[in-house]
Amino acid sequence: MDFALTPTQEAFLETVDRFVARHLPPEEVRRRDRLHIPPYDLLPAMGEAGFFRLALPAEHGGLGEDWRSLALVQERLGRHAYMAASILNRVVGFGIASVLSYGSAAQKAALLPKLAEGRLLISLALTEPGAGTDAAAVTTRAERIPGGWRITGRKSWISDAGGADYLLVVARTGEAISLFLVPPGTPGIAMTELPKIGNHAMPSWDIGFDAVEVPEDALMGEEGRGFRHLMSTLHASRASMAATVAGCAQAALDCALAHAKERHQFGRPIGSNQVIRHRLADMQMRVDQSRLMVRHLGWLIATGQNCRREAAQAKVIATECLQYVTHHGMQILASAGYAAESDMQRYWRDARLYSFGEGTNEILRDLIAREMGL
Ligand SMILES: Cc1cc2nc3c(=O)[nH]c(=O)nc-3n(C[C@H](O)[C@H](O)[C@H](O)COP(=O)(O)OP(=O)(O)OC[C@H]3O[C@@H](n4cnc5c(N)ncnc54)[C@H](O)[C@@H]3O)c2cc1C
Repeated sequence: MDFALTPTQEAFLETVDRFVARHLPPEEVRRRDRLHIPPYDLLPAMGEAGFFRLALPAEHGGLGEDWRSLALVQERLGRHAYMAASILNRVVGFGIASVLSYGSAAQKAALLPKLAEGRLLISLALTEPGAGTDAAAVTTRAERIPGGWRITGRKSWISDAGGADYLLVVARTGEAISLFLVPPGTPGIAMTELPKIGNHAMPSWDIGFDAVEVPEDALMGEEGRGFRHLMSTLHASRASMAATVAGCAQAALDCALAHAKERHQFGRPIGSNQVIRHRLADMQMRVDQSRLMVRHLGWLIATGQNCRREAAQAKVIATECLQYVTHHGMQILASAGYAAESDMQRYWRDARLYSFGEGTNEILRDLIAREMGL
């Protein structure tokens, strides 16, 4: 493994910095979080910057880069503006990865160019009120009707569904599970936004499906192989989350470190107290550990190696690192962190999601143990 950045990777990181300076400077990130404004309007600009083409193979109009480059961009974007990194992950770690992995030739031709240009957003509609960790317990069902399918059921906590062009709906077809691409505006769909404590620029939706009729070609992948299809992209979405969360942890650490240097009490910087210095040193070690695991994972993915365990590990380590860093960051900033305009309180609130989103860390620990032969 070579840790040196290539000139192309350096150039991409500069592109991220320019993109953020233009579209999402810190005050704009705070404004969008405060007013709950998702960054869907920035998708075309992200497409133009090439973010979505990074991990797309050249034959589909990609840039010929690989996951090492993508992870660097995800991490840098996660450091500046998690809300943009989260939408990047939805397009790349989930949308493009899914279409590439199990989309038909027609779906690839129709969807990949739009995904690459930032003209298409797909949300995963898996979770249900009675099926969270136990995803195989979904009860939403799709029945064959002449010329297509009729879908009935309910999904909850579906991110960005209100801004999506398609929901990838996980539904029972007989005993097995299949996947369907359904536009949220289809008759019979009723959506209600769910109020929540963080990630305000990523709205969450409860979605009812009341005999929703979709055509035959809404089926994505093979009938009855939905779970296998979903599993085939999990390492991509976990890797994406680990990379962006590692970037966010660095941002939280930067914020705590700056405060420890600037804030004076008892006539000296609070960072001169050993308790604070050690806390910051522990934070730095964990952030570096997350970043190293993400770099290693990027290399495994780019070189086509099996990385189920490493993707789960990187996701667990990075998400728990962010919670550690923001927990101690809030203590170091004290009242300055508790203030509504502080970035630390946003990192802290948002961080709470990541240890159970994209696979709960409990279930991922089970997966890691299984991969260890237990
Ligand atoms: C903001 C937000 C965005 C989301 N976005 C999406 C989305 O876009 N699409 C989507 O489909 N879903 C989404 N989800 C749902 C998310 O994936 C689920 O919350 C997650 O799968 C956990 O399910 P649950 O909340 O029902 O927890 P539960 O399944 O009720 O679990 C509760 C706790 O029990 C633990 N637990 C359960 N079973 C076991 C076991 N066998 N062994 C050990 N521990 C166990 C869990 O790890 C967890 O700690 C989102 C959720 C939120 C809050």
